[in-house]
Amino acid sequence: MLAALALTHVTIAAVTIYLHRCQAHRALELHPLISHFFRFWLWLTTGMVTKEWAAIHRKHHAKCETVEDPHSPQIYGINRVLWAGVFLYVKESFNKETLERYGHGTPDDWMERNLYTRCSVFGVFLMLATDLLLFGVVPGVLIWLAQIAWIPFWAAGVINGVGHFFGYRSYDVADASTNIVPWGILIGGEELHNNHHAFASSAKLSSKWYEIDVGWMYICVLQALGLATVKKLAPKPRFARPKAAADLETLHAVISNRYDVLSRYAKSVRRTYAEEIERLKHWSPRDAEVLHSLRRALIRGQALAGAERARLAEALKTSRALATVVAMRHELVALWERSSASKEQLLRQLQDWCRRAEASGITSLVDFSQRLRSYA
Ligand SMILES: [Zn+2]
Ligand SMILES: [Zn+2]
Repeated sequence: MLAALALTHVTIAAVTIYLHRCQAHRALELHPLISHFFRFWLWLTTGMVTKEWAAIHRKHHAKCETVEDPHSPQIYGINRVLWAGVFLYVKESFNKETLERYGHGTPDDWMERNLYTRCSVFGVFLMLATDLLLFGVVPGVLIWLAQIAWIPFWAAGVINGVGHFFGYRSYDVADASTNIVPWGILIGGEELHNNHHAFASSAKLSSKWYEIDVGWMYICVLQALGLATVKKLAPKPRFARPKAAADLETLHAVISNRYDVLSRYAKSVRRTYAEEIERLKHWSPRDAEVLHSLRRALIRGQALAGAERARLAEALKTSRALATVVAMRHELVALWERSSASKEQLLRQLQDWCRRAEASGITSLVDFSQRLRSYA
């Protein structure tokens, strides 16, 4: 049992550190010795090919929650991804176009071509023979089964399924990604999947003080030994005295810290939300459904559609303050979603946003505008 846990943990470390953070996202560089060890280990325990894994995963980020996403539970349903995610992966691995378009920069040496890719299933049988020799027949087979089932279940099922379905969100990214639990130990930090989608090229997946990313701990050890070099981390918001008017530097800081901006906005308007709900005690549309939609739109920043959206718009007609904070949130997001606008246009938009926020007479917006002008 302990042996199985230890062995599968090495596999998890190989997936999260080597395949995911190093190969797919280039968040760190590994010493050739370490990266080859991981590649060899993955061949023994999973039969997965680096190029296929990196390509399928990069496509997942590029096409997240659309029909082209190889494994979105929002498209395929949670049960299919959770229990049969590995088949979605295998199916996509036969898609030549995916491999060509997204598989660049992965190992292509003699070993890769002639052994790891050509004989990708041979490794797991070698592992079976080794387990039998080391642990005897029954424990050996059990350990081997745990080893080969580990990644299909935990990675293809739990992370790709649950990590886009259940859990908490620290960042209002456009996809449905979630942090499954704050302690990323069992699956090496990959539990923090919402953090990862917010800052995909960061080598570190934890962000709040209570979150633990065991993969990051290993990376720190490797770095201290000179065996890894961290390339990228999530930006840390910095603040200075608020400027009289936002300038290009402020704009740049706001855009690169957009998730921090959104979570502070949600925190800031919570007060307006509470006050208005209290004031509108006899608000006619004060039914649970409308309040639920309002919370989703305002605090959690989720996009509403169709009837729900119309119902909320109708209800907001009775509260100018709430209507304003909802509308201003959309306008804030437009700062980084409209890619066609020039920097100067965006800057004018930001300055205009601050001016209107401060003229709105809504305390939380006035405070927030000041905060926005202090991003440095
Ligand atoms: Zn994902
Ligand atoms: Zn990723």
